[in-house]
Amino acid sequence: MTEVERQQVIALGRLLTAERRDGCADRVTTDGLVAYINQWSAAAGSAARLPAVQRALGCLVGYDGMTLAERDRALAEAIETLRSLFRATPAAPVETTVPPSPEVVPASDTNHAPAPKRSTSARQSRKRAANVAQRPLAELNLDAPLEQIAGIDWRLVGGFRRLGVRTIHDLLYHFPRRYDDVRNRRSISELQVGAEETVIGEVTDVRTIGTGPKLRVRVEVSDETGSIEAIFFNQRWIAQQIRVGQTIALSGKVTTFGGKRQFSSPRWERYTPDPDALLHTGRLVPIHPLTQGLHENQVRRFIKQVVDTMAPQIEDHLPPARLQQARLMPLGEALAQIHFPTDHTSLAAARRRLGFDEFLFIQIGVLQRKRLWQQEMGYAFTIDTQVHAELQRLLPFQLTTAQQRAIEEIFSDLRRPSPMARLLQGDVGSGKTVVAAAALLQAVANGFQGALMAPTEILAEQHAKNLKQLLSRVRVPRKTTAAASSSYQQADWRSLLDPEEAAQLAEIVSILGMSPEEDMGGHGVRVALLTGSLGTRERRRVLEGIARGEIDLVVGTHALITETVQFAHLGLVVVDEQHRFGVEQRLRLKNKGYNPHMLVMTATPIPRTLTMTIYGDLDVSVLDERPPGRQEIRTKRVGRAERAKVYRHIRKQVAEGRQVYVICPLVEESEKLDLPSAEEMYEHLQHEIFPDLRVALLHGKLSAREKDDVMRAFRDHQYDILVATAVIEVGIDVPNATTIVIEGAERFGLAQLHQFRGRVGRGHHQSYCILVSDSDNQQSKERLAALEQTTDGFKLAEIDLQLRGPGEFFGTRQSGTPDLKMAQQGDTRLLAEARALADAILADDPELKRPEHDLLRRKVNDFWAAATQSG
Ligand code: ADP
Ligand code: MG
Repeated sequence: MTEVERQQVIALGRLLTAERRDGCADRVTTDGLVAYINQWSAAAGSAARLPAVQRALGCLVGYDGMTLAERDRALAEAIETLRSLFRATPAAPVETTVPPSPEVVPASDTNHAPAPKRSTSARQSRKRAANVAQRPLAELNLDAPLEQIAGIDWRLVGGFRRLGVRTIHDLLYHFPRRYDDVRNRRSISELQVGAEETVIGEVTDVRTIGTGPKLRVRVEVSDETGSIEAIFFNQRWIAQQIRVGQTIALSGKVTTFGGKRQFSSPRWERYTPDPDALLHTGRLVPIHPLTQGLHENQVRRFIKQVVDTMAPQIEDHLPPARLQQARLMPLGEALAQIHFPTDHTSLAAARRRLGFDEFLFIQIGVLQRKRLWQQEMGYAFTIDTQVHAELQRLLPFQLTTAQQRAIEEIFSDLRRPSPMARLLQGDVGSGKTVVAAAALLQAVANGFQGALMAPTEILAEQHAKNLKQLLSRVRVPRKTTAAASSSYQQADWRSLLDPEEAAQLAEIVSILGMSPEEDMGGHGVRVALLTGSLGTRERRRVLEGIARGEIDLVVGTHALITETVQFAHLGLVVVDEQHRFGVEQRLRLKNKGYNPHMLVMTATPIPRTLTMTIYGDLDVSVLDERPPGRQEIRTKRVGRAERAKVYRHIRKQVAEGRQVYVICPLVEESEKLDLPSAEEMYEHLQHEIFPDLRVALLHGKLSAREKDDVMRAFRDHQYDILVATAVIEVGIDVPNATTIVIEGAERFGLAQLHQFRGRVGRGHHQSYCILVSDSDNQQSKERLAALEQTTDGFKLAEIDLQLRGPGEFFGTRQSGTPDLKMAQQGDTRLLAEARALADAILADDPELKRPEHDLLRRKVNDFWAAATQSG
């Protein structure tokens, strides 16, 4: 501590002492203690970053909301912590800084292997240690691999490596899976059978009974109220470690055997009167994830040592003022508490801090990405209201309020000179296509090109067809752009083209199959579908047309913008079903020199928390209203015994000229008895049930092309029934399909079931969704019942998130989405707080370049690096 720091700490300590003397009434400063601490932190410089100071301030987080008693305790602890800075010896006990050598295994090591093998491994350890420069823990930094810790047991290093824990930092973030609350210390006579209990008593008898695999060590422990037995199976060495006359603590579940209460293989340790000294018993005992080669007590003792030594010196990546602002526990303390919580309150505070960090790193990451996308200048469009009015006039329906709102939001983005990055979320059938069409039309009216990308060719085909239909009669002015000549302003500008240009344009118009009414003297919107099914010559012509700017809108798969296509002036990209189009692709687009506006559309209703996490770099518009006149799809859950009824229903629908989907979950070999695979279902339906009907099969092993072929044939009504696995495309539109049967419905997430259901009810006919499930599982029943009751995708998404958690939400993990170890995905409040702090930090320091954000910047980078690796 420098002299300046010393003075700062003293000033703080004086104030805290005065406050405590004043009865913790929070009136010794004018604006309250919290405000004072904020000011002090801002002014104190390096003093505020001293670990002990951070711990002290951490005690006072939320001071204004505490009761008087809590304040008094918090102040006492804070003052005591500050005092430790002035003591000659550091507060941390000396022995923890020098780890024991592997030979010295403490007596209380219940699960540890017996002695004989030890000398070999010690020799090995010394031998291997010779290759690594080992140092005492206290001298190592967080990135140091575990094997650098002086005297570490090599089996620990190996065991942790299997868990992916390599460095000291990894170890500190190797959180307990759960905590056993064994603080209930009781006298022996009070012990309840079936409860987790802790007793402390004197060892009155130790006996080894039986031999070989039946060997047991029976320990009798007594206190003034009675005695109880503890039985240890197959742990002969216990008899050497526990001696008559010792006082020990036992923690575990009380059972009965032959009418007598006993502990069966309890946790135990020698008892010392200091409660903090209890590690394995009598406290909130952390249970860390283990693997082969790692033993519970050994791991716990090792982690304790590391935590005790390292946690106090951990530098917090958040400045104290920010901690105070967000009411967060300092990082070092949080890491200590997450492993060895003093009580449930501190555990909750530690969890909150560590969860907050995860959300914060994510939010900083996505907000920075957004900046990256928007940094460069984009194209500011002038919204042509006449053209938009013309579009609306020509539509066979009125836009819903939600559609109008979304279009307005998009238009105001398009007017700005920075590129739009917007997510359009709308349930199946909510009418996203026309919103996209309105935006694309503005790109064309502004002299730019637009691209619409779909995940598969067949969906691209569908989009192209829809776009052509929606835009076919709309006249667009051909305005000047950088790439087009000024003659385009003229009404019949085509007469000004040179003969070669005119011929090229005419060829494009004919390739696109546009009639003179659609061409409108060159004022019609020229939409090209670019898929693999184009002939080589046509494809070349279309590519040339795109490169010259004669084609206005291009529809295709992602290959469109990620591969060979060169645009003349790409102004807007629309991506349908965005979760297959990630950040990397967007950056690739940018690297090709385009900086277009971007609209991504999804029919997967995503709860708000997830949107903020996964798509936090996008602004969001929501279509939360369905176009009028839609009929409800009737949804019903049936048992497998009712299958005959289902088949009768299918036959009736097909007799009326309708089509039917049958979805089967992917099944593994081992479950075959229970659930039919798609192949088996297909065989069964085609040969046994409906030999007279046309049944098709679509499964995951088909190539993309084969899948498209099957889907196309079904769309064109060459089949009556389509049996498919979950590979069936979202977004596919076959209005004549009216029934979807979902086998093993309990296997799918709600969101996915809802997507499946969206395959029907797309025409005028009454539609049905039949969920086949015999599951008795309560949660499955709730999910399927929710589906029967509501067709609101957003409601279902929320229910799904609550029931199953985020990991299950999409069925598979989103690529590039960080895993959350600590934060609860559903914790909207914490997420919003983290977002707010991320915003505040970035507003101050967009690139985290300031020295006080150095560590934060590194952490955010590490976090995302890890996320993209594992994703
Ligand atoms: P999705 O959001 O699932 O992509 P689509 O854009 O395919 O939905 O629209 C579904 C159907 O609803 C289409 O047939 C479309 O023409 C129709 N539609 C869209 N908007 C409206 C509206 N405002 N009123 C009536 N029908 C509409
Ligand atoms: Mg759609």
